[in-house]
Amino acid sequence: MPSSSDKPESKRPRALPIPKGISDLPLFTPDSSIASDVIPSANFGERKGGRQPDMVILHYTGMPDVDGAITKLCTAGTEVSAHYIVLEDGRIVQCVPEALRAWHAGLSSWGGEEDINSCSIGIEIVNRGHDWGYPDFPPRQIAAVIALCRGIMLRRNVPAHRVLGHSDVAPSRKKDPGEKFPWHSLANSGVGHWVQPAAITKGETLKLGSIGDDVKGLQKALARYGYGVPITGKFDGLTMEVVTAFQRHFRPEKIDGIADRSTLWTLHALLTSLPAEDSAPRV
Ligand SMILES: [Zn+2]
Repeated sequence: MPSSSDKPESKRPRALPIPKGISDLPLFTPDSSIASDVIPSANFGERKGGRQPDMVILHYTGMPDVDGAITKLCTAGTEVSAHYIVLEDGRIVQCVPEALRAWHAGLSSWGGEEDINSCSIGIEIVNRGHDWGYPDFPPRQIAAVIALCRGIMLRRNVPAHRVLGHSDVAPSRKKDPGEKFPWHSLANSGVGHWVQPAAITKGETLKLGSIGDDVKGLQKALARYGYGVPITGKFDGLTMEVVTAFQRHFRPEKIDGIADRSTLWTLHALLTSLPAEDSAPRV
């Protein structure tokens, strides 16, 4: 029988699972000095055309437990991986070296580029996600995400506005990291692009079925920001999905896929606050 002086199990960091079938993979030195563990993933390739990463894509794992998530992201045959996994207690595990192409974004696009895996670093944040109750992100975990992103941004010269969510680059398929993700807190530390969302008011809206130049203007603004949306002048299903993704990231108070005034003004404020140097060639 344990004595009363035994420390509770919860105070000790839990050992991380070592997925089967990765024992042959070489360990590597983590790129981030704050990554505490390396669990090599079998799922990676070369970045196409020698493309260097200048984006960071944030995800949630969307699985009921951390062991299952690590196993899925590292085991051969699942065809998914990420460079980093950030646990709820703030521990950071690296699974794929940053120089290589991890398989986290899938079919996606941003700013006209479609091979997002080749131009990004992928970070999986352990959270059960929308299908499993979608808990809040613990502050320790968010602090770790911020520190990890800041290091990557410095080392890789990633501008703040190119730290994005999976839902931004794959709005038809993905919701992660979702509306509970505290983008405003990240922005306070210089990670990600954020403006205070415009207040929700009554007034004209653009929504599914709307047609005309105003819709075209909305699509142009979304595309200029980076979203993959064709400029047709018709507010179709895809446009609604992109507006929904935009709201999930930038106006999380109301996510309905309707481009109300608050959505339009928030998008406009984001566009006008993009750094001017982004239009200049990068050196
Ligand atoms: Zn994802």
